[in-house]
Amino acid sequence: MKVLVPVKRVLDYNIKARPKADGSGVELTGLKMSMNPFDEIAMEAAIRLKESGQATEIIAVSCGALTCQDTLRTALALGADRAVLVETEVELQPLAVAKLLKALVIREQPGLVICGKQAIDDDSNQTGQMLAALLGWAQATFASRIELGEGSASITREIDGGLETLSIRLPAVITTDLRLNEPRYATLPNIMKAKKKPLESVTPDTLEVDVRPRLTLIKVSEPPARQGGIKVKDVAQLLDKLKNEAKVI
Ligand code: AMP
Repeated sequence: MKVLVPVKRVLDYNIKARPKADGSGVELTGLKMSMNPFDEIAMEAAIRLKESGQATEIIAVSCGALTCQDTLRTALALGADRAVLVETEVELQPLAVAKLLKALVIREQPGLVICGKQAIDDDSNQTGQMLAALLGWAQATFASRIELGEGSASITREIDGGLETLSIRLPAVITTDLRLNEPRYATLPNIMKAKKKPLESVTPDTLEVDVRPRLTLIKVSEPPARQGGIKVKDVAQLLDKLKNEAKVI
C-alpha cells in the first residue's frame, strides 16, 4: 500500500509570527521556514507503517513555491521514498490544495493519505477534510493512534470527553494530532541519501486544477496587547467587577 503524505512549508514554530507593516500578510522575509510540525508527525506515522511492513512506499507532496523543495528534501531524509512538488507562485488556499492533492491521489492511487490536522501558519484545519470529501473517501481527523486492519483502520481520536475510536474503510484520509507519535530527526547519512531520491515537479496546470483564491484576505494584525491582572480582596469584589466593569455576568 502506498501512503501519500502532504507536507507544508511554514514559518518555523519557534519564531514569533509578526504582521507585515501594511497588514497584507505575515512577514516571512529572511525568517526560518520548516516543515509544519503536524506533517512531521504524519511522516513519522507513515514511516512506522512502512517499517512494520504495512506500507510499501511513501510519497511526500508539497504545494507552493520552488522553496518547498527544502521541505520535500527533509521528508525524503526522514524516510519518504519519493517526492512531488506542485509548483506555483499563487497563494494557495486549503480548497486549492485539496484539489491538487485529489489529482495526485487519482494518479498515484495510495491506500492512505496522512495529513497534519492543521497548518500552523493559517490554522485552517480544512485540507484533509476537503480532500476526503472531494474523493468520497472515509476520514478520521485528529488521530492519536492508528491501527491498520484488512481493508480498514481503527483510529483513536482525542475528543473533549475522552477518547473516541473509529473504524474506517480504506482508502481513507487521516489527519494527525500531537500525541500520535514523536517524530524522529533526520540523520546526516539520510540527509545525504535524500539528495539522490527522486523529486518530481508538476504544476497546477498539468494537473488541470484551478488554484485561483476564492477568499480575500482583508487584514492581518497583532492581537490587542494583554492588560496586567489585578488581585481582588474577596468574592463580593470579584462579582462586582465581573458585573459592573467586565459586564460578563
Ligand atoms: P490546513 O487545512 O491549511 O490547516 O492544513 C492541513 C494539512 O493539509 C497540513 O498539515 C498539510 O498536511 C496539508 N497541507 C496544507 N497546505 C499544504 C500545502 N501547501 N502543501 C502540502 N500540504 C499541505
